[in-house]
Amino acid sequence: MNVARTNAEVIAIGSELTCGARLDTNSQWLSRELEALGWTVQRHTTVADDHEAMVRVFQEAAQRSRIVIITGGLGPTLDDITRDTLAEAFGQPLVEDASALRHIEELFRSRGRDMPERNKVQALRPAGAQTLHNAHGTAPGILLKLTEPECLIGVLPGVPAEMMRMFFEQLVDVLPGSQVFVKRSTIRTFGYGESDAERLLGDLTARGRNPEVGITASGAVISLSVTARAGSDEECDLLAEAAREQIRNKLGTAVFTENDEELEDVVARLIASRKLKIGLLEGTTTGGLIGQWLTEEEHSAHLVSYSRLFPTAASMNETDPANWLRGVREIATSLLDRRTADYVLISSPATRSESDGGARMRCGSVRVVGQGFDRELDVSMTGNLAIFRERAARTALNLLRLQLLRTQ
Ligand code: AMP
Ligand code: MG
Repeated sequence: MNVARTNAEVIAIGSELTCGARLDTNSQWLSRELEALGWTVQRHTTVADDHEAMVRVFQEAAQRSRIVIITGGLGPTLDDITRDTLAEAFGQPLVEDASALRHIEELFRSRGRDMPERNKVQALRPAGAQTLHNAHGTAPGILLKLTEPECLIGVLPGVPAEMMRMFFEQLVDVLPGSQVFVKRSTIRTFGYGESDAERLLGDLTARGRNPEVGITASGAVISLSVTARAGSDEECDLLAEAAREQIRNKLGTAVFTENDEELEDVVARLIASRKLKIGLLEGTTTGGLIGQWLTEEEHSAHLVSYSRLFPTAASMNETDPANWLRGVREIATSLLDRRTADYVLISSPATRSESDGGARMRCGSVRVVGQGFDRELDVSMTGNLAIFRERAARTALNLLRLQLLRTQ
């Protein structure tokens, strides 16, 4: 079977990564860049500084993928063995690269130091490979082109800043052209659960489709990533737009952005464009989060014309949280009557209760009132406080957003 090899993979080397001391951020960054260049990154591997494991992973990756990018393990210390294991994996002796050695020596000289003997190993490369110049550090990268199977292996330093620069300055130009254009866009929705959204979208989210539609949930926000692959930029746009149109039709006003932005930013923009004044009466269900979001940027801080935080149920003049609104209704009404606010967003004190199944529920509600408008939603859920508050604050902002869409 002759399978076109259009996939790439990324390998991160380092025991500090596998033991959890440090997060592998290089693979995320590289994958985004490779995908933007039209490659499909199908695998990430993180390997400890372990000779055998590294040799095996390199060989397997070269069998699978047209491009393999490896980061880390290029330092001068004994635990940095990417050079040795790469040479062994592909049966090549290590040779000293004269120009790389000169560069390392010069780098030390320019810092007024002699090159330690150990740094000499950094100028080694597998015989059939080239070194990639590192203008910003001592560790040169390595470029190895295999023919059977055809695979380009790029090895970059582990230090993220050096890795990024070498990728752009030395590697991008020698990567094979992918022949495939890839365009990714994100649609975000609020109001559906993940499985409801999936059910409504039907076939659209099936694997192997082009464009591919992926669903991820974070808080109560469902993000749909639309990835179109085609032979030209224009074709990608056409494919992606057809899918986006279907999504819009199926999910309607639940869609709040097609620009990869947060719900709170979209609502802040809506408020500003309508020149509305917003009053906030926040109990511990949102705990000031709505105010924090709306006033984060100096240019939007004026959106909030009145704000009060009620840190306890008692501070709402109300010991029975079920009737929490009574305590704040008067303030809300007077804000609306005096035109201090066009809309008032209210959240209740948060309480805890035991659900039937024994799980601890956080209970609360949010309410939005305006002239001739009054809606309240329960936001009770199990889960941690930060997620509860974010969901509650977004539920209130989304109530306002839907109301503004109705009255435009
Ligand atoms: P090395 O090239 O293995 O000597 O790594 C040099 C530095 O870069 C160390 O501080 C590593 O923790 C860091 N580093 C290595 N690999 C990664 C990675 N995949 N993501 C983020 N940092 C890394
Ligand atoms: Mg290392």
